[in-house]
Amino acid sequence: MFPRLGYLKYFAYLQGHAPMKLMQFNVEVSVSINEINADGMMLVLPVDATPGPKLDALLGKLPVWLKADFSTVARKRKFEAKAGSSLSFDAPDGTRKSLVCVDAKAGAFELLVAARKVMDSGVFDAKVKRLAIDLTHAGLKTQEFADAFVSAAAAKIYKFPKYKTETKTLAKGEKPAKDEQQSLRLCLVVHKSEVKSVEAVVARATDVTTAGTNLVRWLAKRAGNDLTCKNYIDYLKRLSRDRKWGFKLHGHDALTKMKAGAFLAVVKGSAHKDYGIVEITYAPKGKSTKHLALVGKGLTFDTGGHSLKASAYMLGMNGDMAGSAVALAILNIASLEKWPVKVTAYLAIADNMIGPLAYKPSDVIVSMKGTTIEIIDTDAEGRMVLADTLHYAAKSKPTLMMDFATLTGACVRAIGTTYSGVFTNRESLHADLIKAGKLSGERVWPFPMDKDFAECLESTVADLKQCREKGGVDHIEAAQFLMHFAGDETPWVHVDLSAIEHPGGLAHVATDENGFGVRFATTFIREQLGIK
Ligand SMILES: [Zn+2]
Repeated sequence: MFPRLGYLKYFAYLQGHAPMKLMQFNVEVSVSINEINADGMMLVLPVDATPGPKLDALLGKLPVWLKADFSTVARKRKFEAKAGSSLSFDAPDGTRKSLVCVDAKAGAFELLVAARKVMDSGVFDAKVKRLAIDLTHAGLKTQEFADAFVSAAAAKIYKFPKYKTETKTLAKGEKPAKDEQQSLRLCLVVHKSEVKSVEAVVARATDVTTAGTNLVRWLAKRAGNDLTCKNYIDYLKRLSRDRKWGFKLHGHDALTKMKAGAFLAVVKGSAHKDYGIVEITYAPKGKSTKHLALVGKGLTFDTGGHSLKASAYMLGMNGDMAGSAVALAILNIASLEKWPVKVTAYLAIADNMIGPLAYKPSDVIVSMKGTTIEIIDTDAEGRMVLADTLHYAAKSKPTLMMDFATLTGACVRAIGTTYSGVFTNRESLHADLIKAGKLSGERVWPFPMDKDFAECLESTVADLKQCREKGGVDHIEAAQFLMHFAGDETPWVHVDLSAIEHPGGLAHVATDENGFGVRFATTFIREQLGIK
């Protein structure tokens, strides 16, 4: 049994909100569907031929609990068993029974999409509080199906508590309506020999979704005047104290001493001094030889500065801290799962505002590394705060360094919002990056990093230009800029999170803000650092 209530705890620490409604998510693994006493029962059937089996042949395959009731309904509704089709109905005993046909050849991404659609269909609504998923017909796909359905359910149960006030006045004695689906108990039914492996898959899927993906969604959705730099840093501090992580804030004075001129240029327009590089450390029990550094862009709001964004592009810029949330979420999972490696998150928490003191195009600043940078566009602030943060993180000589940032519009134009772009100083990692994307269902694609892409960053007045004036391939050129500060001693991967917002949701997540990156990165890191 795996009761994972991961994110409940984190919600409780968020400030400026009415108390959260608690949502429970509980998953068990069982070998017999008859002992579960569920009000929803679903059979998942892989279908590998088109067209699928004829109804009579299909009926022959079905387990006893479904067969009798299903036969009448299926004939009436002219059900065809093909990949993507499903049938749900209320059986005479009051249980919601369903058959879901899934493409036997589907990869992780397609499976997550299929599972999300199932969770949004009649299989799962307010009436169903305990859903049994029969995977005994899944064959070799059992683990992948378990991962997809548990992940989709955990993503579905999450609800962003809105800022709307309650307007309904309650009659005397009337209780406030309960939020739909505040709790869900899932029970996966598998063969006895599969229990152990499926339990492990379930635990991982639950952790990654509730304590990772949902945490990113929660943070990235908060309004800019709610998740301010100060509130964000306070939250990180309290979370670190609770989880017994090391916490260090390199605030204004420390950054000045560290000569973090690139970071400090961006925050010159801020009316406060609550920004900083937050350094959070998870250290495993016992000695660890490996060290993972995670760097995140945490712009709680990005106006563009003097190179002001047009209003349509400024809308939603409270989500420009999503990269830092992804880095935090990965460290959170490492801590929950007790990874045997040291993990440090370096979160660049800042905002990019306008004002009389704000930095300007054509300014020249000196970065922490000592590199002078000619400012071209104040809206290219992400690479500025990351330059100093990457340089600082690289000094600790980690085994692997990854950074996450909603960095460029060019990446969105190059690859869209269903993939994210990856860039690395080790071309030999390309195959592993693609593989981790495919296996996790959060897909990435590497871009080339040949040296000549950096020629456009040559400046006549400084060591480096921040970016070019117009044209070019800004996603690659931004990565070239970052590579200057990340150095080449440490294997480094930069993730430009173009997929973190996708209209209508992505993979297992149904909301635009989808927490992209946690599944991909944890899969990649586990492989690279040999974490079981
Ligand atoms: Zn910007």
